[in-house]
Amino acid sequence: MNKPKKFETDAIRIQSKRTFNKEHSVPVYETSSFVFESAEEARDVFAETKEGHIYTRFSNPNSDEFIEKLCALEGAEEGIATSSGMAAVFLSMVSILQPGDHLLVPRQIFGTTYLLVTQILSRWGISHTFVDCNEPGSWEKCILPTTKMIYAETPSNPGLDLIDLKWLTRLAEKHGLYVVIDNCFATPYLQNPLKMGADLVIHSATKFIDGQGRTIAGAVLGSKEIIRDVRMFSRIIGPTLSPHTAWLLSKSLETLAVRMERHCSNALKLAQYLEKNSEVASVKYPFLPSHPQVRLAKKQMKLGGALVSFELKGGQKRAMNFLNALELLSLTSNLGDSRTTVTHPATTTHSKLTAQERKESGVSDSMIRVSVGLEHIDDIVADLEQAIIKSRSARNPE
Ligand SMILES: *Cc1c(COP(=O)(O)O)cnc(C)c1O
Repeated sequence: MNKPKKFETDAIRIQSKRTFNKEHSVPVYETSSFVFESAEEARDVFAETKEGHIYTRFSNPNSDEFIEKLCALEGAEEGIATSSGMAAVFLSMVSILQPGDHLLVPRQIFGTTYLLVTQILSRWGISHTFVDCNEPGSWEKCILPTTKMIYAETPSNPGLDLIDLKWLTRLAEKHGLYVVIDNCFATPYLQNPLKMGADLVIHSATKFIDGQGRTIAGAVLGSKEIIRDVRMFSRIIGPTLSPHTAWLLSKSLETLAVRMERHCSNALKLAQYLEKNSEVASVKYPFLPSHPQVRLAKKQMKLGGALVSFELKGGQKRAMNFLNALELLSLTSNLGDSRTTVTHPATTTHSKLTAQERKESGVSDSMIRVSVGLEHIDDIVADLEQAIIKSRSARNPE
């Protein structure tokens, strides 16, 4: 690869080698397989003594371009593009863990990842212990002789709790554990866990990497050595990213930096507005001075991210009334869209957890999660404000 340039430049200028024409934008290579010049070439490409594409389940110029760019932005040697974020989470775990291994996971984790650990890995003899982001002092004593990996997310979904990545990778190094970080909320623009010592980074590219709510995709990134195993699993299992989606995502990365700047400045303004609203019981945003880990957030992240969570006075009923009163913003479980999306995690993304599990994961019945989009901040605030006012009268009909 060429010498790395600045984030914005790599995100735009890294492109796959063109074959024939001189298109300025890389075309979509919608092909299942690739032809060889000769039987000897086919033999050499299969033997990996010669570079070349064989079959799109293995590789394709579009997914190569997407991954090469994402690797440059995250500081990874190699990576694998996947058909969803969950495929990336699953690959990162099964390429490293074996029956009998033990996994340490914070409870403050994406709902489906929680289910993967509790419902699927447990069936295959991979055990786990849940730890708490807010009690890092208790983690070390949960490490067993069979512990092989710490899998974590920072900031967490939806509670926006943080983990000190430098502390975490030091702890893991001391005990010879792999560290896998889901960097979905921060994106490579705000935080690069591999540069802080993590072994693998996974992404749900569905979120900010696409940034426009158009597709489902993911990626696993890390060192050449670990990715070799991930690649083997991916080729055999087949959670392949389609060429068209890879093409779309490579284009999306071109604007990631400017989008994140605006997402984050809108989110900070919204958090500041909510903090001043007397109907709001609590607000969480990593860059608010009231966030318990604001110092860590400012050390570890370039900006505070696009997610804000808050609680209105009046519990779940009030939260539901508020959501029903929104006029502009979208009521949807997705996040990382140019459109502001609003979610009630307790009854949607985290509804498959028991009430006790939700409580331990920091998901209260009144919590509302906002993924702040790119609309004008005045319009975002105005819609929330009218819905807060309307939901108050719905709570106390006069
Ligand atoms: C959405 C999400 C995932 C799963 O990604 P999909 O693309 O929906 O499969 C994993 N982790 C986090 C933090 C997410 O927000």
